[in-house]
Amino acid sequence: MFKVGITGGIGSGKTTVCRVFEVLGIPVFYADPAAREVMNTDPVLITGVQEAFGDEAYQEGILNRKFLANIVFNDERELAKLNALVHPAVFRAFDAWVSEQHGVPYVLKEAALLFESGSDKLCDETVLVIAPRDLKIQRVRNRDKITEAEVLKRMDKQFSDEKKAKLASFLVRNDEKELLIPQVLKLHEQFLSLAQG
Ligand code: ATP
Repeated sequence: MFKVGITGGIGSGKTTVCRVFEVLGIPVFYADPAAREVMNTDPVLITGVQEAFGDEAYQEGILNRKFLANIVFNDERELAKLNALVHPAVFRAFDAWVSEQHGVPYVLKEAALLFESGSDKLCDETVLVIAPRDLKIQRVRNRDKITEAEVLKRMDKQFSDEKKAKLASFLVRNDEKELLIPQVLKLHEQFLSLAQG
């Protein structure tokens, strides 16, 4: 299956772009909700988390989010340790999902940390959605009803657009000036032809 990874900074509009691909009949795997799901369903991951952070990480088989958040959001190394366990589990979930997709020309994988997780290496092509910083901050403030400082805290955890643009094979400009749908249609045509080899 031909696989396209799609990413973008917080508030860039990557989910919005993915919805357009879905309208075109292209299935999209959303890595963030998948990551939350595998924490409670992937036995290899569950065992790994218990070994790394202690049995308290699960209560009656359900992830103890508060306990784990306290550890990983106060220590970068602990977060890296958790990510090293979660990312492979999401890759496994993606592979299983891909094997269930039939009769489609290609699939998309939407991941906030596509490049940071190394997930881009498992995709045939990658798309980066970009938008001006102020617009991204405004969008997230409106959507999540949070302060600018909270948005900036989340932004700081991600690679910069400049760094990601060097790694991505295609760009979508979601700046509310350039029209979005024609950009997606053009990419769709390109992926159809690339997927056919
Ligand atoms: P996150 O990483 O935070 O999940 P995201 O990159 O997936 O963000 P979206 O959720 O798609 O971003 O978009 C952020 C907000 O901006 C949403 O409320 C969305 O409706 C709005 N938005 C995105 N693109 C546009 C656009 N072109 N015009 C108007 N609103 C937009």
